Amino acid sequence: MEEISTDILIIGSGLAGIVSALESERSGLQVLIVGKFSIGMGTNTSLANGAFTVANSRFSKEDHLKATLESGKGLNHLQRVETLVENAPDAIGRLKNYGVPVVERGIGYAIDQPEGSSQLGGVLLTKFLVERLRKSSVQVLPGIVILDLVIEEGEVQGGFGFLRDGRPCLIRSKAVILAAGGAGAIYRRNDNQKSILGDGYALALRAGLPLFDLELVQFYPFALAEPRLSTFILLPPFPKEIRLLNEKGEDLSERLNLQGNFNQAVVAQRDSLSIALHEASQKGDVCFDFTHVPQEKWQRYPLNFLKKSKFPFHDRPFLISPAVHFFMGGVEIDERGKTALPGLFAAGEVTWGIHGANRLGGNALTECAVFGKMAGQAAAEYARMGESRQEPSIPSEALRRRWERKAKGYLKKKRGSFDHPRDLLKGLKELVWKNAGPIREEGSLEEGLARLASIEKKVEAVYPATLRDLFNKRDLENICLLTRAILKGSLLRKESRGSFFRKDFPNQDDQNGLRNTCYRLEKGELRITHQPIKP
Ligand SMILES: Cc1cc2nc3c(=O)[nH]c(=O)nc-3n(C[C@H](O)[C@H](O)[C@H](O)COP(=O)(O)OP(=O)(O)OC[C@H]3O[C@@H](n4cnc5c(N)ncnc54)[C@H](O)[C@@H]3O)c2cc1C
Repeated sequence: MEEISTDILIIGSGLAGIVSALESERSGLQVLIVGKFSIGMGTNTSLANGAFTVANSRFSKEDHLKATLESGKGLNHLQRVETLVENAPDAIGRLKNYGVPVVERGIGYAIDQPEGSSQLGGVLLTKFLVERLRKSSVQVLPGIVILDLVIEEGEVQGGFGFLRDGRPCLIRSKAVILAAGGAGAIYRRNDNQKSILGDGYALALRAGLPLFDLELVQFYPFALAEPRLSTFILLPPFPKEIRLLNEKGEDLSERLNLQGNFNQAVVAQRDSLSIALHEASQKGDVCFDFTHVPQEKWQRYPLNFLKKSKFPFHDRPFLISPAVHFFMGGVEIDERGKTALPGLFAAGEVTWGIHGANRLGGNALTECAVFGKMAGQAAAEYARMGESRQEPSIPSEALRRRWERKAKGYLKKKRGSFDHPRDLLKGLKELVWKNAGPIREEGSLEEGLARLASIEKKVEAVYPATLRDLFNKRDLENICLLTRAILKGSLLRKESRGSFFRKDFPNQDDQNGLRNTCYRLEKGELRITHQPIKP
């Protein structure tokens, strides 16, 4: 077994992870950042458009606070939002210091793309951050999947996982920052990276932490739905010549009550459009038609990005559908990124509190930059305190033996009926999309729970003969856990609010709905309670 020792371990190499690494490194302590792939790759950060909502010369801090709370429809954690708004301009300054080119735009900042560039803002952002990381003393360990947090005497002291070459790996640290992102890819239709499957949520739940508001999922209305092409979202600015058609070639704009142009609608009507398009796409094909867009507009971003594809976007209409975009729920942190578990800090999409029932566009990257910095600093202070301890609470040898046994247990051949994990994964993603997608109602949520129970039994019986099977099995277990939480939490929210829509309860119910849903794992059982909104 590979054994590594460091002061601070950071799980995740998106914006939240890299910012926390660079911040904690300033303390002079040893910092190690890990990710499932090469550092910065396979992250949702690298897919982002690159918009940061932050107070600027035309958009005040009061405006930022108000817009975030309005969007969250009463479910935001007010103090966390205040921390975000207050610290966002400074976090943007920090990014500039790291060499990231950001310019003021709209209600915040955007990655400054060179003229004619067809690269996503997130790709450029990641490139600059990884370059900055290379110049730092932060150690990197790519290609590891963390399966467990190491918890000794109630304190998080590292992580355990498998390297992609099959070696088990125990990382001991004085503090851990969880920056493992969201869970969009558990849904069949999503615009996230394939590997963003809610590992961070599952790690936190299994470590005994409560999660909040997992049922609140954000959808983006315009995602590519052509078979054999990967799902990606169609980003504004949209040229005025585009049309939204049904399979008969009829224009859907009026029928969908599209107000203004597509650029306005994608901001102001993101939720209602996702619901309407989901309904329409269940009856027949829904297409975007870009064939009337003049040639010169294809030279500019984002159309020049589409132009790079072999698919003839300029010659024929193409299928679209809404897709899962973002998870509002997650781990509770305090204003410095500390979780309720000693030694564990968290930042980014894995956390909860900022977005309420719907995220204001551009607030996710800002959240990563602000709370990445907080978590990095707080983890460094915590790790420093740990330095005064004479001996680790558990002798290295005992801990090593314990995790060697655990590693063997993970790959131990057991008898079991064999269902191919890939087929189960496909079925599970289909289930969560069909039964807990943009439109939810009691009957289909109950049906989802019944179908889930039979998949869970099959997942239990999968025996991991290879490392790939082990990773697949863990993905399946995590997705089952999150799907159960989303289905059950949705059943209990008998209203519609923000991006959450119950067809059988289409109105917002402030009498009963102004509460956060709290999910805990107790002896393997999911327990759900509710917490009134803190005034
Ligand atoms: C298409 C798209 C466009 C977007 N555009 C914008 C935008 O313009 N503005 C905005 O504010 N937001 C945007 N968002 C949302 C935003 O990009 C994300 O919320 C944000 O980047 C998440 O960053 P993160 O650091 O929390 O996680 P991520 O960037 O997703 O990184 C997660 C990291 O955790 C690692 N990880 C996960 N599990 C494990 C494990 N078990 N072991 C080891 N490593 C693990 C992954 O490998 C990865 O390195 C967009 C999202 C999408 C999908």
